Amino acid sequence: MKKVILIRYGELFLKGRNKRFFESALIDNIKNSLRGLKFGFFKMQGRYFIKDFDEDNIEEYILRLTKVFGIHSVSPAFEVSSDMDTILKTSLEVAPKRGSFRVTVNRADKTIPMSSTDISREIGGYILENRPALTVDLHTPDNTVNIDIREGGYAYVFSKHVMCVGGMPVGTAGKGLLLLSGGIDSPVAGYKMAQRGMELNAIYFHSDRFVSEQAKQKVIDLATIVSGYAGNIRLFVLPFSDIQEAIHNNCKEEFMITIMRRFMMEIAEKIAMKSGCGALVTGESLGQVASQTMESILVSNNAVELLPVFRPLIGMDKSEIMDISLKIGAYDTSIRPYADCCTAFLPKNPVIKPRLEVAIAEQMKIANKDELIDEAIRNVEVIKIGNSGIEDLI
Ligand code: ATP
Ligand code: MG
Repeated sequence: MKKVILIRYGELFLKGRNKRFFESALIDNIKNSLRGLKFGFFKMQGRYFIKDFDEDNIEEYILRLTKVFGIHSVSPAFEVSSDMDTILKTSLEVAPKRGSFRVTVNRADKTIPMSSTDISREIGGYILENRPALTVDLHTPDNTVNIDIREGGYAYVFSKHVMCVGGMPVGTAGKGLLLLSGGIDSPVAGYKMAQRGMELNAIYFHSDRFVSEQAKQKVIDLATIVSGYAGNIRLFVLPFSDIQEAIHNNCKEEFMITIMRRFMMEIAEKIAMKSGCGALVTGESLGQVASQTMESILVSNNAVELLPVFRPLIGMDKSEIMDISLKIGAYDTSIRPYADCCTAFLPKNPVIKPRLEVAIAEQMKIANKDELIDEAIRNVEVIKIGNSGIEDLI
């Protein structure tokens, strides 16, 4: 008996003119997610199949597929010949040991004389004979034994449905630059945009002289976790200490974070333009901290000239964000206790409602602002995260 993995995708996005485009992105992403493992990929009648894989390692295949945006659910299944004897025997393999069940038959092969209902009844009877402790429940069964009889003399027999992340295939909604810190929020923000089909680059402002290498490693690890969903990510690590020092030496202490944010947004936009990104993405959530009041967001947003800034968490509570962080497996990494670039220069009383003209005037006190930015961008380190090689664009 041959095992396969059956992949179901959301039908909605495959309607209309862009069907080809969405489908080829999804197929590329599925293949990319399984890179390094042995597998064959097949497409048939609105479904995809993984065949010829390493059956002892099936959990790893399924785990990776559950993270591919655009897949609705997957099922490990047996592919068998569609004679009744074989189907009966196989149905026992997937039938539960206890509880209630029903049998659902889908008969694409109309040359088979029995109706779907008759086939279900026969299989149900056979399962009951062999497992007398089971009960039949047609409406709310604990388990469903599915038989999918295909044209060409074979059938798929399965019972498990593993739910996947849904969403749209990554690569179908442009590319964005994620401002990725070592916190809880920004990895979740990247995940949310990838769920809508956005491909990601990421930028981390690294306080190279004031925080440890472990802080940088934490961001690399977070980018790796996000790339399990978002595919390959080009991570830019930008040396930020000189800029922080210049702010510290020239500007009022309470504007430290506000002006750091303005630098981050200006630099991020420049790197985004150079690397083909059409938007910036941050993990800001309204009112969460002093730098995320509406007034603070206005001041940092003003440092961006052209690109839209997406803030997918803006209306979410911390608890909702934490739930997603846990679900995607980022939380334990996010709470590792290394100081980030902001903690190194945290002012005692940060401005909560900065005025734009005042913030700009403070920033102007740094006479060599543009040179500092150019110098930092010249020294940016590019790290490729993910499981296939990608070319440097910068
Ligand atoms: P996070 O949990 O994502 O760190 P936070 O709650 O700590 O967010 P802030 O520190 O105010 O919030 O940062 C707001 C957003 O600014 C972050 O979500 C991230 O997008 C961006 N950001 C902050 N610090 C950095 C950094 N060092 N490198 C890149 N982006 C950053
Ligand atoms: Mg942070």
